[in-house]
Amino acid sequence: MGSPSGEIFLPLEPTSFTNDSNAVIDFIADYYKNIEEYPVQSSVEPGYLSAKLPDSAPYCPESLEDILKDVNDCIIPGLTHWQSPNFFAYFQANASTAGFLGEMLCSGFNVVGFNWISSPAATELESIVLDWMGKLLKLPSSFLFSGTGGGVLHGSTCETAVCTLTAARDKALKELGGWENITKLMVYASDQTDFTFQKAAKLVGIPPSNFQFIETSLSTGFSMSSKQVRLAIEHDIKSGLVPLFLCATIGTTACGAIDPIAELGKVAREYKLWLHIDAAYAGSACICPELRHYLDGVELANSISMNPHKWFLTNMDCCCLWIKEPRFLVDSLSTDPEILRNKASEFKAVLDYKDWQVALSRRFRALKLWIAIRRHGLANLMYHIRSDISMAKRFEAFVAKDDRFEIVLPRKFALVCFRLKPKQELEGTELNCRLLEAVNSSGRAFMTHAVVGGIYVIRCAIGTTMTEERHVDALWKLIQEKAQSLLME
Ligand SMILES: *Cc1c(COP(=O)(O)O)cnc(C)c1O
Repeated sequence: MGSPSGEIFLPLEPTSFTNDSNAVIDFIADYYKNIEEYPVQSSVEPGYLSAKLPDSAPYCPESLEDILKDVNDCIIPGLTHWQSPNFFAYFQANASTAGFLGEMLCSGFNVVGFNWISSPAATELESIVLDWMGKLLKLPSSFLFSGTGGGVLHGSTCETAVCTLTAARDKALKELGGWENITKLMVYASDQTDFTFQKAAKLVGIPPSNFQFIETSLSTGFSMSSKQVRLAIEHDIKSGLVPLFLCATIGTTACGAIDPIAELGKVAREYKLWLHIDAAYAGSACICPELRHYLDGVELANSISMNPHKWFLTNMDCCCLWIKEPRFLVDSLSTDPEILRNKASEFKAVLDYKDWQVALSRRFRALKLWIAIRRHGLANLMYHIRSDISMAKRFEAFVAKDDRFEIVLPRKFALVCFRLKPKQELEGTELNCRLLEAVNSSGRAFMTHAVVGGIYVIRCAIGTTMTEERHVDALWKLIQEKAQSLLME
């Protein structure tokens, strides 16, 4: 093909592929080398980028050198550095060399594995890795392909919520005899449940007023009470409504709260609700035998999801969903367009993952989880979790020793929720808001906040791949420094 510059135009040519890819890898390696020098949270103003870049696309090709220069000068200043060892915000998004290699292979092959025939390895590796991961978590065989269930990789917990809710909805509507009954279906979740579930329920057509929040409180560690769930269910049944779905969380987003799976499972069984367990963050920790007990009762659930892209050294995006009766998912989500008809799907009863998710097209995500597990091994994966938890304990002890501060609720996993004790003149929210702002605007660390039970807390989430004790110690010193000047005002 002729190009505008008269050269042969080859978008994917092995030699330039190698050279360009190596240049980008070197660029990323330098980024990681220098990552501590950047302010952790970007401080650019909205719209900063359009002032720096042309407002239309180039007609002629540009050199990679020019492009990487712009990445360096224009993009990096607008990044919040999630991989910085001084990043303690939200929940971490673990990157690792192994995860990166998996992404490279996924992107390099660039196959679209919507059904088995479209790339058998993509489907088969995914089901093998889901079984591996399920066994690392000691999930009952009812969730594994080697048993009676199965698993799939989605991009996010929100997608798993949409798909499981859809499966549960359709199963119920079939039993109730028609779509008009959708207004009767009730979804239950604690007031600490991640907002993705509310969003998913909306997408699935559950009326917002049928999303019932179960109130939690500080005195019970913001954990959902099965007694209250039972009361809500009985109340709704009396009003002619149909309890459909209960979402329990292990490690809530705001404060790491843990719902009692076994008790909630019993209630769900009794009233025939679909129980989903959201272990997006803390699921990874359950590979450690001493933490596995949080999953006790999982055999009573219908589905469970967790995000290896949070705490399992697997680069974005990667969310595992296991489901006991995949046929309900497939019943709801399968489509059979002529263009995808093939003998394998029709006669060999293979797995077609397009029927387990929202989109038709799908990435070969299993490669990176497979490589992350193989390159680290269970031994290092447990070490990674344990060392983050031990750093969080260290941080918690620092806070507990300083009587200007308080731990608002006991540390869960590697998340510490704390605050400066309110002084009379300065109310707790304002005081801690200002402390957080002072810490973050220093550029030396980044944390975020939550409001739980009306209390503004600062969240210190420890767990980026490169965080070491010295970073935690420096963070505490920084917090003390900023608190000191705030209290002296
Ligand atoms: C992060 C998180 C989510 C949201 O996950 P997505 O994959 O971004 O949809 C849901 N639940 C919990 C408990 C989380 O920590």
